[in-house]
This record gives sequence, C-alpha cells and structure tokens, in this order.
Amino acid sequence: MFIGLSKKLDSLSKEKFCGDVRDWHRSIVNHMYFVAATSNSPDETVAKWKSVANHVQNVHEHSSWQFPRCTHPEYTDDNQKNWLKPS
Ligand SMILES: [Zn+2]
Repeated sequence: MFIGLSKKLDSLSKEKFCGDVRDWHRSIVNHMYFVAATSNSPDETVAKWKSVANHVQNVHEHSSWQFPRCTHPEYTDDNQKNWLKPS
C-alpha cells in the first residue's frame, strides 16, 4: 500500500501545476506510517489520514473529534514549509 501511495504521489507531482507536491512526498508517506502506527480504530485512521489535506495547506486544526489537531510542534517563521494552496 505504501509503495502505491509513493507512485501516485510521483505521478501527481508530474502533472501540470502540481510540481509542489514533490516537496511533500516524503512527509505524506511518513504521515501514512504515522497513521498506521498510532490509530486505534478505523474512524481514527480515516480522520488522521484526511488531516494531511489540511496540513499541507498550513491548517493544523481539523473538523474531526478523533483527530482535532495535528500533534507536531507549531510552525514558526523559521521552519515554514512550501504550503500548498487549493485550486
Ligand atoms: Zn499539521
């Protein structure tokens, strides 16, 4: 499953206007491992997985009670990422 995700991210990053996905490839794959290792129910798994769509847009609070906010330290001016914008 994780190899499939990596290939899909590779393909997506080659599509027009999607090159910035390349910067997120490793983080998204790591997130998949985090979700698998830390989830205790199917609903929690889904909630944590879906949170990545917010996270890559610099949104770290989520609408799900199972995973209401990211668990990483806050980002500061010194450790910003190449946040994606919805289009
Ligand atoms: Zn986050």
